[in-house]
Amino acid sequence: MILILLGPPGAGKGTQANRLMVERGLVQLSTGDMLREAVALGSPLGQRAKAIMAAGDLVPDALVNELIDLRLDVSPDHPGFIFDGYPRTRGQVDALDLLLSARGFKLDFVIELVVDEDALVDRITGRFTCSSCGEGYHDRYKQPAVEGVCDVCGSVNFKRRPDDNEETVRNRMTEYRAKTAPILPYYETRGIVRRVDGMAPIAEVNAAIEAILDAR
Ligand code: ADP
Ligand code: AMP
Repeated sequence: MILILLGPPGAGKGTQANRLMVERGLVQLSTGDMLREAVALGSPLGQRAKAIMAAGDLVPDALVNELIDLRLDVSPDHPGFIFDGYPRTRGQVDALDLLLSARGFKLDFVIELVVDEDALVDRITGRFTCSSCGEGYHDRYKQPAVEGVCDVCGSVNFKRRPDDNEETVRNRMTEYRAKTAPILPYYETRGIVRRVDGMAPIAEVNAAIEAILDAR
């Protein structure tokens, strides 16, 4: 199973990818997570990406294409992948097609999380994650069961992303509209786009995605 979760920043891609990993053993490939890791390590890639990410611009296609390329060499019994935050441009779409076909893999679905843009700033400025296991939370929509303690690993340390501020979010949305949304018509012509209401509660969004995957 290979699917792309597509939607603007804060649409819920990471949240849903996480659930699909737990429920189906699929592997999440988030270029955003990979880039943040590179920035934290201070690697040459991280040094190039840091300011671009802080501004909410897109890093060059070649950099993210390589990150994905490095992760696709898996054994034939691998359960599959969820692309989260990739591809984001037509150049990345074409690169992904080549990377998949070179390995005999087929893209099953592009699932678009349809969301109301006005809600996204609220979603993103309230987002935080566990510093230890990466579980995602929200100040209002997904609080830990015990305040200040991660539900998954019990850690008491949480973090917020430096680019999750209102100004950067607006630029990230502009980038999404200009460069990412236009890739949808291409996938439409292939008949693999499915739409899900991303404004529904997290569990309902998950159920809608599961129903799409089950119907394959
Ligand atoms: P993305 O990966 O698309 O940028 P996230 O999955 O990180 O988005 O979600 C952004 C924030 O919104 C997180 O704090 C998450 O807990 C919250 N969130 C995700 N899906 C929903 C939903 N369906 N309803 C309410 N809040 C949500
Ligand atoms: P995300 O975690 O998906 O919200 O991504 C955070 C930031 O990382 C984006 O604002 C971009 O600067 C960068 N980024 C992540 N994925 C990509 C990608 N596929 N192409 C270009 N830039 C990306």
